[in-house]
Amino acid sequence: MSRVLVIGCGGVANVAIRKCCQVSEVFSEICIASRTKSKCDALAEALKGKTATKITTAEVDADNVDELINLINSYKPDLVMNIVLPYQDLTIMDACLACGVNYMDTANYEPEDTDDFAWREIYEKRCKEEGFSAYFDYSWQWAYRKKFKEAGLTALLGCGFDPGVTQAYCAYAKKHEFDTIDTIDILDCNGGDHGYPFATNFNPEVNLREVSAPGSYIENKKWVEVPAMSIKREYDFDCVGQKDMYLLHHEELESLALNIPEVKRIRFFMTFGQSYITHMKCLENVGMLSTTPIDFEGNKIVPIKFLKELLPDPASLGPRTRGKTNIGCIFTGKKDGKDKSYYIYNVCDHEECYKEVESQAISYTTGVPAMCGALMLLTKKWDKAGVYNVEEFDPDPFLDALDKYGLPRSENRSPVLVD
Ligand code: NDP
Repeated sequence: MSRVLVIGCGGVANVAIRKCCQVSEVFSEICIASRTKSKCDALAEALKGKTATKITTAEVDADNVDELINLINSYKPDLVMNIVLPYQDLTIMDACLACGVNYMDTANYEPEDTDDFAWREIYEKRCKEEGFSAYFDYSWQWAYRKKFKEAGLTALLGCGFDPGVTQAYCAYAKKHEFDTIDTIDILDCNGGDHGYPFATNFNPEVNLREVSAPGSYIENKKWVEVPAMSIKREYDFDCVGQKDMYLLHHEELESLALNIPEVKRIRFFMTFGQSYITHMKCLENVGMLSTTPIDFEGNKIVPIKFLKELLPDPASLGPRTRGKTNIGCIFTGKKDGKDKSYYIYNVCDHEECYKEVESQAISYTTGVPAMCGALMLLTKKWDKAGVYNVEEFDPDPFLDALDKYGLPRSENRSPVLVD
């Protein structure tokens, strides 16, 4: 029995909430709170009579710590699930600390570009010191470790698929398959087709910022940076087929390098079709991906936010997306003195997801791990005070829950390696 406050009611939250409502014996009460309360009410209405979970709704501005504190103090949840945008991670963590409540999210903190570029100073200093220049990094949230530990609270970071399940796959490989891991390649393939020339599968602003940032990977404990989309490989994915994939920077590389220190190289690849890349390059070239406000007819607009309004809402892609995703990790390393390789992955079908929760597989593969991560915290299978990434917990109960609730794992013990 537990009370959970879910903040955000977009594509991912819709899936997570619907999945929580399938496990009412743990998620007995849920409050859905977001900026636009009508979306929370619509979801509560859609779930009426279909679940034993008691659902209430609220309006909240997650940028405002006082509003968050008032809401948390009045609802008194056991856990706050942050499924808003990466910009709100710190305000929600602050509110959780103030109220003495456990916290989790699905994406690491990113500063939203604003007129006062105060964060840039910290960011540029860090880039210089560490030779690190990608947009995402955990330093802001890891700075809360001591505070959460001293308060006896848990903050679980990045519990979607990637980040999230991919790190549990790494912890699983380390626990069961290898004595030492030498290389990790995380492969994220979306073989789905929504029929639009250009659309993003989750929040367009977050997605486009991620893809247009310089690529980077870790080699011999150092970040190697490359221009965006400059490293391309082909891979033949189980249940999907041959796809082009590109090396991206991705947030879990940073925590994996810290938590699996023997790893010599960690890379992240994501598949993109030619149409996506051509559109993205064009939008970038004309300045539409910029986060810097511009003056337009007397108003200030942020180009990428304006673009978001023009693009299809990711939530609307569900009924039109066909095909499958395949996301997983390929490892090389040693077991009992012998070289070995191992691939663990999940295949998820867009149409099946839509049938079950009225969403495409990208939101599904993020929302289900968010529910399973919450389940781990609420049932105390994951129970330690502090701020943690997914690979710092026992992967077994989490992967068992994913098997049970819609994202079963597959394995290949002689995978084709990426060169
Ligand atoms: P959406 O844009 O669909 O939903 C975001 C939700 O947050 C909306 O309900 C929005 O409200 C709400 N929101 C935004 N700002 C505020 C605010 N200031 N106060 C209150 N509510 C607010 O995003 P997604 O569902 O696609 O993504 C959710 C999260 O999941 C993101 O952080 C994303 O990075 C992460 N993600 C993680 C993945 C992983 O594998 N780990 C993969 C995909 C996504 P409104 O309706 O008013 O706009």
